[in-house]
Amino acid sequence: MVPLRRSFLIRSVYDLLSSNANLVRWGKKDDPTCSLCQGWQTKEHVLSSCKVALSQGRYTWRHNRVLQELASVISTAKGEIHPSSTSSTVFTTKVESKNEWRVDHNKHP
Ligand SMILES: [Zn+2]
Repeated sequence: MVPLRRSFLIRSVYDLLSSNANLVRWGKKDDPTCSLCQGWQTKEHVLSSCKVALSQGRYTWRHNRVLQELASVISTAKGEIHPSSTSSTVFTTKVESKNEWRVDHNKHP
């Protein structure tokens, strides 16, 4: 396992990731709220419980990106060309002034 992934996994299991709630607990920040919904930003909130992230489809997008990456790795291992390597990938960018999300279609080489 890649060292950074291992570190993330271990810190996630022991709730040592830098959520706003933990940053407040560690004296690094004053505000424990989520910037999207103003709820209490814990690890669970960031990873799966933010109502705004859910309504904007962020969890589905992340889920699909992981599956797309897995399919690409499997296809590469099998010597196939995966469709995601030639098709466009959708990224979203938050437009701060409008509190909206913009969809960007970027093509990978
Ligand atoms: Zn939230």
